[in-house]
This record gives sequence, C-alpha cells and structure tokens, in this order.
Amino acid sequence: MRDETKCLHAGYTPKNAEPRVVPIVQSTTYRYDSAEDIGAVFDDPSKSLIYSRFENPTVMAVEDKIAALEGGIGAMCTSSGQMASLLSILNLCSAGDNFISVSTIYGGTVNLFAATLKKLGIECVFVDANADEETLDRVFTKNTKAVFGESLANPALAVLDIEKFASLAHRHHVPLIVDNTFPTPVLCKPIEYGADVVIHSTSKYLDGHALQVGGVIVDSGRFDWHGGSFPGLTEPDPTYHGIVYTETYGKMAYILKARMQLMRDFGAYPSAHSAFLLNLGLETLPLRMERYCENALKVAQYFLKSPKIESVRYPGLPDDPDYALAQKYLKGASGVVTVVVKGGRKGAITFMDALKLASNQVHVADIRSCVQHPASSTHRQLTDEQLAAAGVHPGTVRFSVGLEHVDDILADIEQAMA
Ligand SMILES: *Cc1c(COP(=O)(O)O)cnc(C)c1O
Repeated sequence: MRDETKCLHAGYTPKNAEPRVVPIVQSTTYRYDSAEDIGAVFDDPSKSLIYSRFENPTVMAVEDKIAALEGGIGAMCTSSGQMASLLSILNLCSAGDNFISVSTIYGGTVNLFAATLKKLGIECVFVDANADEETLDRVFTKNTKAVFGESLANPALAVLDIEKFASLAHRHHVPLIVDNTFPTPVLCKPIEYGADVVIHSTSKYLDGHALQVGGVIVDSGRFDWHGGSFPGLTEPDPTYHGIVYTETYGKMAYILKARMQLMRDFGAYPSAHSAFLLNLGLETLPLRMERYCENALKVAQYFLKSPKIESVRYPGLPDDPDYALAQKYLKGASGVVTVVVKGGRKGAITFMDALKLASNQVHVADIRSCVQHPASSTHRQLTDEQLAAAGVHPGTVRFSVGLEHVDDILADIEQAMA
C-alpha cells in the first residue's frame, strides 16, 4: 500500500459487521475467565491485553498505522513527544552511559537531554551536525549508547544528513534515533536511510488539528543489539521472570522492552480518546502535507523579497544551505518557514503582534497558520550559546504556514509588515 492508502486502512481492518471506524475502547482493563488466564498474560504480556497503562486497542491501531507509514516493525505511543524522546533514550541508557545528539534540535529536547537526563546520570554530548567524520568519531566512548538528531530541525530547519549519522552510529555499534516530527513519514522515511528508531511528537502534523498532545516511538527492527553493548536488551530482565528481550522477541526487542518495562513502570500512555483523534488526523495526512509544502514555499518566496526580513530559512528554497540535503531526504520541505526579522527581538515581536490571521501560540504544524518567537518562548531557558547552536537568533520568528488560502496568508503578512 502507498502512504495515502495506509493512512486510511493500516492498523485496523474490521471483520464482518464490526465498526467501520476504529472504536474508542475507553476501558482501563480487560476481563478474563480465570486467574490462571491472567497469570499466563503476566508471563508474556505481549500476547494479550492486561491494563491500559501500557496497552489499549484504540492506541494500538494507531501505533500499527504509524509503524506501517515509517516502514518500522512496531511502534508505541506516548503521552507527549517529550515522553517519546525520553523513553527512546532510557530504553538504551542507564546512569553512567552517554549518547550523542546533534545540537540543532527542539529546545524542549535540549532541556531534557542537557539538564534532566544529566540529573539521572545520563550525559548527552552535543555535536555540530556539520562536523567532519573524524571529529565525530572522537566523541564516542565505550559507554556511548545512541546517536540522536532531527530530520528537519525545529525551529532551525536544518536537514539532517541521515546516512552520514547512520553510518557514524553503526561504525560504533549504536543505533541512530531520528525525530521525524516536522517532515512526517509522508515527506521523509528515515528508516530507508539507515535510522534504527524514529520518534515523533504526534501533537504536530500527524494530528494536525491541535487536538491532542502525544508522541510515538517506532522501531525499525533492524538494529543488531548483540553487536553492541546493550545488556538491558540482551541479558535477563529480573522484573519479567528473566525474559531476555532479544531472545524472546527477536526483531521486536527494543519496542517491546519499551512497552513492557518502561511504559509499565512510567505509565505515560495516551488515552483511547486521544488516539482516536490522532487517527482522524492521520487519515488526511498526505493531502495536508502536500498543501503545507505548496503554501509554505510561496510564503518563503514572499519573505525572501521583503526588505524587512534579514534572512529566510526554508529548505525548499534553492538558495537554502540545506537545499541539496532536502532534495535527497525530503519529498517536500514541510510547512514551517523561519525568518530573522530586521530589528532583532523588537522587530520580531512587532511583526508577530501585527498579524491578524496567523495567531501567536505555543504550537507549530497546526492546520491554522501560527507564529512563535523561540527566543522568548520554547527556547527561553537556553543560554545564548545554546540558542546559537540550535540555530536561533533573537529576531527569529517561526512561521507555521497553515491550510488557509495562501493569498489570505500573504495578505496578512503584508499588512503586518506594513
Ligand atoms: C514539539 C516537539 C517535540 C515535543 O513534543 P510534545 O508533543 O510537545 O511533547 C519534540 N520534537 C520536536 C521536533 C517537536 O517539534
């Protein structure tokens, strides 16, 4: 099936006389005939449902759909994108371990990696995405467990050279985790270029309507855990009767460990109702992404000609520094355009406050146009050096182009500029 078809049909196939639309199974628990039946499920929770803290049929239908779209072997939804980032790392790292991340990533992820994980004894080493291979090779230690990057960085809009980072990671026997939130699997499939794990904030384009906060982790099923040092996956788990994930679950080891161990313990699972809403958004994803790309290119071209704009980043523009990478990895450059407004912080805020159609909100990738000033919101906690490393300037405005008629979006920008 192509993406358009998967978005409508993957993950749920009703049998005779069953509901056409994936049902909302709003139940914490599942009934069994006997204590013995329940005991058997505890021996191997992957066989049947026990409790909606870590598994639910509505959520699982969406998980299967997203796994199919990404070309993965399995997926697990989480209560936020932040939780997907956190669990993707905790599934590999313990106190004393470290991992490597490209520095051009979402500000919330920088906080999580640089501050909160550090308190848990897990160190994140940030690297420049453009560093040469020798420099990058030197960053690895024997306790390095993963490499992390964003396929299309929020808000810097830098495009990750996925093959370069996949081969770097694989040379050191660790997986590459790619946050694919901005392109979505419709515009980029990181697994095809060597990524081992893909994560998303489903709060953005996947849902698209700003209805639910959520995340997802997708496992490619391709990484050889025995080739590296991952005792959590290759040695017995005492909290599951000594199950060895790689032995019992083979290619599904990573994603089932995330569910059976981390989700069981942390319980950051979405509700069935949230998953239902996410599914509704997913059904029209390919259509929406096509129009986002079309509208955003026109907005980027408009900004490029404006004398009040210092610089524009949109990897769909031929002059963009990452145009070549975008041509290679992305089917379209998505719907977000980043501009640096003349006049720094004041210029940016004056422009944003004058917009009438595009709203000021802490969100991106909405169906409605919206803007945000990273330096005073999502990236407020970062130091000036961290800001610069994340590709953010005090005058940076992130313009998330919506699905209104593009002429109305442009007219709004024009009056605000004036
Ligand atoms: C928003 C975002 C996140 C965090 O997701 P939430 O759903 O807000 O927790 C992570 N990565 C990227 C690229 C994002 O845009």
